[in-house]
Amino acid sequence: MTDSLDDGAPTHEALTDDELMGLAIAEARAAADREPADVPIGAVVLGADGQVLAAAGNRREADEDPTAHAEILALRAAARATGRWNLTGATLVVTLEPCTMCAGAIVLSRIRRVVVGAMDPKAGAAGSLYDLVREPRLNHRVELTTGVRGEECGDLLRDFFRARRTR
Ligand code: ZN
Repeated sequence: MTDSLDDGAPTHEALTDDELMGLAIAEARAAADREPADVPIGAVVLGADGQVLAAAGNRREADEDPTAHAEILALRAAARATGRWNLTGATLVVTLEPCTMCAGAIVLSRIRRVVVGAMDPKAGAAGSLYDLVREPRLNHRVELTTGVRGEECGDLLRDFFRARRTR
């Protein structure tokens, strides 16, 4: 590996969950700032070594695509970056609890760990409405961490919808 400096220190420090969520939040903000604006949800995928493989924001409006959720776009980009569909050992960090589609894609991609910001009681499939990512009948289950900067991630969504109503 050429992954070290002369002093032996790694070139990238392992980021904390809070810091990783900051990257996902930046993607969420960028989604809302585009024209047409997308609901602010962002996701980041890290390889087994902790290196950022991909980051994406929701692009449902931008791409006119009902499946263009941040998680799906980040998973696809991460797979392209690694040159294989199988993301064993990888971590996905997302500002909002994944929906059923994204939870399904997470299981299919063999992601090891998922870090969630705000929960989504109305549509969440990682502990709220369903728990697909830890469903014992499926052949793969993820390690789940929730509530990382959850308030902040939820406020992004609330502020977005409030601004839209008053427009
Ligand atoms: Zn989704």
